Amino acid sequence: MHPSPAQPVLKVALPLPLRQIFDYLPCESTPGVQPGARVLVPFGCRKMIGVVTEVADSSELPMEKLARVLACPDDGQLVLTNETLDLLKWCWRYYKHAPGEVVFNALPPLLRKVGGTIPPLPVEYCLTAGGRDQLLEPPGRAKARHRLLLEMQRGAATAEQLRAASPAWRKILSALMERDWVRPEIQKAAQLNISPGPSLTTEQRDAVDAIGKSPGVFQCHLLDGITGSGKTEVYLCVLEKILQQGGQALLLVPEIGLTPQLVERFRQRLGFEPVVTHSSLSEGQRLQAWSLAKTGLARLVIGTRSALFLPMPELRMIILDEEHDASFKQQDGFRYSTRDVAVKRAAGLAVPIVLGTATPSLETFNNAAGGRYNWHRLRQRATGAAEPRWRVLDVCQQTMQGGISAVAMEAIGATLEKREQALVFLNRRGYAPVILCHECGWHAACQRCDANLTWHKSTRRLLCHHCDSGMQVPVMCPHCGADALQGAGEGTEQLEQMLAAAWPDTPLLRFDRDTVRRKGEFDRLSEQVKAGDPCLLVGTQMLAKGHHFPQVTLVVIVNLDQALYSADFRALERMGQLMVQVAGRAGRDQLPGEVILQTHYPRHEALLTLLESGYEAFAAEICGDRQAACLPPFSYQALLRSDAHEKGHVRAFLEQARQVFPAGEALVYGPFPAMMERRSGRTRWYLLAQADSRAALHQQLDQWVSVLKKLPSARKVRWAVDVDPQDY
Ligand code: ADP
Ligand code: ZN
Ligand code: ZN
Repeated sequence: MHPSPAQPVLKVALPLPLRQIFDYLPCESTPGVQPGARVLVPFGCRKMIGVVTEVADSSELPMEKLARVLACPDDGQLVLTNETLDLLKWCWRYYKHAPGEVVFNALPPLLRKVGGTIPPLPVEYCLTAGGRDQLLEPPGRAKARHRLLLEMQRGAATAEQLRAASPAWRKILSALMERDWVRPEIQKAAQLNISPGPSLTTEQRDAVDAIGKSPGVFQCHLLDGITGSGKTEVYLCVLEKILQQGGQALLLVPEIGLTPQLVERFRQRLGFEPVVTHSSLSEGQRLQAWSLAKTGLARLVIGTRSALFLPMPELRMIILDEEHDASFKQQDGFRYSTRDVAVKRAAGLAVPIVLGTATPSLETFNNAAGGRYNWHRLRQRATGAAEPRWRVLDVCQQTMQGGISAVAMEAIGATLEKREQALVFLNRRGYAPVILCHECGWHAACQRCDANLTWHKSTRRLLCHHCDSGMQVPVMCPHCGADALQGAGEGTEQLEQMLAAAWPDTPLLRFDRDTVRRKGEFDRLSEQVKAGDPCLLVGTQMLAKGHHFPQVTLVVIVNLDQALYSADFRALERMGQLMVQVAGRAGRDQLPGEVILQTHYPRHEALLTLLESGYEAFAAEICGDRQAACLPPFSYQALLRSDAHEKGHVRAFLEQARQVFPAGEALVYGPFPAMMERRSGRTRWYLLAQADSRAALHQQLDQWVSVLKKLPSARKVRWAVDVDPQDY
C-alpha cells in the first residue's frame, strides 16, 4: 500500500469488461470529488468517462504512477446516489461481473459518453398578466400562437404539451417570452388528483391493508392473483397512499408492449402523467426520464428492467408486475435478475416491495411457502366472471389440419357462430419451422447456429431466429436439385393462412414479431379486437400477456408438448405459467370461457395437477420434485460460460478452470455443451457450480474468479459467470 497523505485517491469504474477498479488522482480545479460523480480520465491514449465509486487514502500503485482526472463534467452533481452506488457494488460482487459494466449499465446512454451532460431542470411555461391580456384579443391569423396561449391559460405547460399544441412552438414561444407575456419556471412535481376506483373485494382489501401497514419497513409481498382478480387495482390503492405522503414509487413491467394500456389506467386514476422509461425510447427521452426520477419530479416511474437502477431520492415502494416473466433476467453482458436486485434494493431502502403474478416463479413460491414473503392470494375474479373451463384434447392419431384437430376446428366454428371471438395460440412464428427436401432429406440449417432456418413464406425467406441470418428460399433442393422442397411443422403464418381459408369472411388478426413490428401496431390490432365483432386471433406468447379482450371466449393451445419432456428442468414450470397466462385471455368479462389444450400426453401427471387443481397445487408438486433432486430453489447454482470460434479453446479453458475450482462445499460439474452449442458462429460450453448453501457457493466463486483471470487459456475465449442462471 502506498498511502497518500496529501491528496485522496479516486477509485474509478470505467466501462470496460475488466474485473477491476482504476485509481486516479483528483484534478486541481475540482479537488472535492465525491463517490457517484462522473470524471473524464486518460486511459492509454484515449479519454474516457468514468464514475468515482470510492474516495480512498491509499493506492496499491505508487503515487507517481497515478494519472490525474482531466475534468469533472457535471459541476459537482452526482450521477449516482449513495443508495444506488451501494446497490451497484453489491451487484458486481454478487454477480462477479466487471464493475465498470455494472455501473455504466445503470446510467442513461447519453451519460455514458464523453460530451453527454446532465440536463438542466425541466421548466414549464406560464402566462404573465400581459400574456393573459393577449387572450382577450381575437386570434386573427395567429392561430398557432393563440393555441399556445390557450394551453398555458389552462395552467403551466411543459415543452411536450406546447409541442403538441403547435409544431412551431419554439419560435412562437421565444417571441412571447421576449415580450414578457410568458415566463419559464422550474417544473413542479405532478399534483395528484385521485379519482375513486371500484370498491375493493375482501381479498383485495386484505392485501391493500397488509401492504400499507408498515410503509417504512422492508417486507416482500407476493400478490398471487389469478388473471382478472384485480392485482392492478391493488397496486393503485397502495400507491395512492405512498404518493399522497410525498413518496416516489417504481413499477417494473416485463415488456413495453404492456405499458400503454397500463400507463393510461394509472394516469386516469392518479390524475397525473407517470414517467415511462424503457430501452426503445430515444436517448434524449431516457435521459429526461432519468433526470425527472433523480430530481424527485417523477412521482411514479413505470419501466422495464433498465428502470431498476434509476436514482429516486424519495423511493418508498417497488412493485414488480408479472414477477415470473423471463425477460426480467438480463441474458447477456451483466446478467442480473431484476426481481432479485429489486428485492435487495427494497431491503436496503427499508421499504415494501410487491411481486405480482398469477403464476409465481418457483423461487418466489418457495419464499412465500417458507414464510419469508407475505403471501396474498386473490382467487376470485374481481368482475365476478367465472374462470375458464379446460378441455384436454388427446391428438394422438387425430386428423390435423395445419396443426389443428377437427374437434378444435369445430369449436372455433361454434364460437364464431355465436358471434364471439376465438384465440389460437402457437409459440412459433413463420410458416414452418423447417423446410426439407422430400427426395433426399436435405433440410435448411443455419450455418452459424445449431438451429433450423424458419420458412417465412410471405417474404420468401429462410430465417434463423437465433442469429437473424437468412437467405432466399431456394427453388430447387440445393443438395439433389429436385423440385421437392416442402415445410414440416407449422408456425403462426401457416395457421393464419389455413384459418383464413376456413373462415374467409371472418377478420383474422395475427400477433407475432413479424406482424407487430412497428410501434403502435399492437395497440391498433388490440383496439380492433376490443371493438368486439367476431374475429380470429392467432399469435405467439405476445398474446399471453396482460391484455383484456372481453369477447374472447375460446382459446386453443395448439402445441406445448416439447416442454413436457425437455432437458431443461425449468421447462415444465414455464409451460405451466404460459398455459395459465394464455388461458387467462378467455372469458374475462360476462361470457364464460373455454380453453382447449391439444396434447399427445393427456395423462402427464403435472399437466393433470395443473388442470384439475390449479397453479398453486402444480407449483407445490414441481417444487417437491426440485427438492428431491436438489435443484434450485433448493440449491444454488452458477455457470462459468465460455465461447469462442474454436471448440478446442473453449474445452481447454473449461478443463483448466475445472482443475482450479477451490475445494469446499460447492461442487463443480462439466464441461457441458450449451443447449444450443453453436450460436452466431461461436461454440458455447459451460461448467456448473452448485451448493446447498449460497454463502459457500459465493465464497468459492470469489476465489475461483480471481484465479480464472490469470489462466493463460482464458485469453483465447470469452468467459462470464452467470449467477442464478435461468438457461443453460
Ligand atoms: P389483474 O391485474 O389481476 O389482471 P385488474 O386489476 O386488471 O386485474 O382487474 C380486472 C378487471 O376487473 C378490470 O377491468 C378492473 O377494472 C376490474 N376490477 C378490479 N377490481 C375490481 C373491484 N373491486 N370491483 C369491480 N371491478 C374491479
Ligand atoms: Zn434434395
Ligand atoms: Zn443462426
